[in-house]
Amino acid sequence: MQRSTKLTLAEKAALTSGAGAWSTKAFGDIPSVTVSDGPHGLRKQVDPAPSETADGDPDLGLSPSKPATCFPPAAGLAQSWDPTLIERVGAALGEECRAEGVNILLGPGINIKRSPLGGRNFEYYSEDPLLTGALATAWVTGLQSQGVGASLKHFAANNAEYDRMRLSSDMDPRTLREIYLRAFQRVVQDARPWTVMCSYNRINGVLASQNRLLLTDILRGEWGFDGVVVSDWGAVADRAAAVAAGLDLTMPFPGPASDAELVDAVRRGDLDESVLDVAVGRLAALTDAALASSGAAGSGAAGQDGGYDVDAHHSLAREAAARSVVLLQNDRGLLPLSPAGSLAVIGVFAAEPRYQGGGSSHVTPTRLTTPLEAIRAFAAGTITYTQGFTVDGSGADAQLVTDAVAAARNADTAVLFLGLADRQESEGYDRTTIDLPAEQVELARAVAAANPRTVAVLAHGGVLRLAPLAEAVPAIVDGALLGQAGGEAIADVLFGAVNPSGRLAETVPARIQDTPAYLNFPGEFSHVLYGEGIFVGYRWYDAREIAVTYPFGHGLSYTTFGYDGLRVSTGEDSVEVRVTVTNTGDRAGREIVQVYAGLPGSSVARPARWLAGFAAVDLEPGESREAAVNVRRDDLAYWDRRVERFVVEGGVYEVSVGSSSRDTRLTARADVAGDALAVPLTLDSTLAEVAAHPVAGPLLAERFPAVFPAPGGDDATLGVSLFDLISASPVGRMVSFSRGAVTREMLQRLLDSANGTT
Ligand code: BGC
Repeated sequence: MQRSTKLTLAEKAALTSGAGAWSTKAFGDIPSVTVSDGPHGLRKQVDPAPSETADGDPDLGLSPSKPATCFPPAAGLAQSWDPTLIERVGAALGEECRAEGVNILLGPGINIKRSPLGGRNFEYYSEDPLLTGALATAWVTGLQSQGVGASLKHFAANNAEYDRMRLSSDMDPRTLREIYLRAFQRVVQDARPWTVMCSYNRINGVLASQNRLLLTDILRGEWGFDGVVVSDWGAVADRAAAVAAGLDLTMPFPGPASDAELVDAVRRGDLDESVLDVAVGRLAALTDAALASSGAAGSGAAGQDGGYDVDAHHSLAREAAARSVVLLQNDRGLLPLSPAGSLAVIGVFAAEPRYQGGGSSHVTPTRLTTPLEAIRAFAAGTITYTQGFTVDGSGADAQLVTDAVAAARNADTAVLFLGLADRQESEGYDRTTIDLPAEQVELARAVAAANPRTVAVLAHGGVLRLAPLAEAVPAIVDGALLGQAGGEAIADVLFGAVNPSGRLAETVPARIQDTPAYLNFPGEFSHVLYGEGIFVGYRWYDAREIAVTYPFGHGLSYTTFGYDGLRVSTGEDSVEVRVTVTNTGDRAGREIVQVYAGLPGSSVARPARWLAGFAAVDLEPGESREAAVNVRRDDLAYWDRRVERFVVEGGVYEVSVGSSSRDTRLTARADVAGDALAVPLTLDSTLAEVAAHPVAGPLLAERFPAVFPAPGGDDATLGVSLFDLISASPVGRMVSFSRGAVTREMLQRLLDSANGTT
């Protein structure tokens, strides 16, 4: 912190903006740090951006990047529901960053998937904050174990690409806290990321980059974040306002004129220099941490540190991808396939796989095995490949369908590779449909008619409407996006080398019209109303009892699991949930035990159930094990806007365990003591609220019996109880009916003594 005093005002201002697309500035003993996209692989540009001192064209940081392991993007990886595995992926990413001298990897992206149409959903984990938070915590922990910092992004409520630099995400405080900030809070508190990246959008009208409530009051004040807040690239509109709000580093490189604006703001007295000093102090601490971890000496850039094992990382990418595959449907036990049978492999994605999304996260893989090659490596029978369809938007091609049908007819099994092409979803724009291209659905119908043993394998970043496909084919394997080893991972699952254990991190709705944000997406005139409130994802479908094609948490295995012996015990900070899971089939497999909580009769609107914890259990055939899930008491809380904090409501919670949000097998009850909640009474408190108060209620009845009716009793004139009639009126308003017998001052004194404020 003290080092800022050695810098001139101009140097301090300059330090708070980037030197180039991917680096910060070095001044005196403060070195430069290198940052890079991410997050599912390292996107280090071959040709680094020119620094601001070089006479260069603007650099958008989009030139080709060096090869790096392309792990499954978040949409795929989240389907593993496996924090241990994700921590290993994070550590491997950290090793690659070290090898390239990168100090901060710009990820993970943890925004909630509010609408399936969100263009960047492939970069995000889930529709559920707990799952997102737990998985991203593991990722950050793994990455930072290598001395490489994370940048938790995009903070906050950046759930659409439409008008993304101006759009205001408008919502009530409860929705903001319980859904859109909850995962950020968990990761900040559990994993302590080095940096947080503010988003482009506005939140309730205020740009994220200038949002003091978010960047200072909540992030630092409430959550204790002590790292650097960095802007998304180009997210800052007003440097001084951003620094005043708590932003430390403006990226990428707004240049000397922008730095000079900051200097002017200080000179004019619009920005206190001490605020700039704090930002500089945080940047100095960040660079210290980067330098200490990279082990590099000198005042230049924090340096490079050895290589990494490319093969081992590819194997890890394969393991992670295989764990992330979800077996959605497997009628008549069609899968796994026998290597001996003949196969018709159909669909262009078998030969040219779709394995990551487009935009700033696009990685150049170290290698890529296509599903077709991987299947050939497994299978002993004849393999025939046909293209099936094109992805150029030209619609169905009759000849390709004819060829596919012929191949399917002549094979024991047809494996169809379907999905979305790069251009159909990307950073920068939202989708307009969740349908699979019509020609692919038609192809599936034709192929399945020719060969009832047809398996569909899906590649896509955002959720698809799968009802038509689910009717057409008996088996569906969902890869989402699986990274560079996705081809091998799919073959592992198809042939049973890996028994699938992936689970959906997002509901597959029956129709886009059923989705929670349908009437409020993407918004208009730079505003979007989060009208569905906290009812996002399964919270919405369950509350409204809407049928879905596949529920949140769904995923089949080649074996089956039984549950018994559910026990819950309530401790001070958590509810311990134990259940015995048995592998009731004839193959080793992994069950993801999901714990959902609910509070029937809650005093606030609640989802029917919400994910409160989960655990993986690996079981041999016939084996039983006890799974233990620790449900944090905090994960039972709701945000109470009256007292502006999370509150655990006392009551008997329903704790259900099972295989998906709609396949809960056992339910127990947990009696949880609530938080003390004293909502101060005001003149705006209702008569009912005051009457129910242990001190104010009796006082009111005793002092003003003529003005304030007591509960109960029917009034003959009105035919109902007068108390019931006016119990929802603020007590202060009763003054108007008292002919001066009660004044606001009298009432205020009564309330003060009840509140204990006199
Ligand atoms: C994206 C970020 C990314 C940054 C740098 C922005 O457009 O929103 O996710 O890290 O660019 O490429």
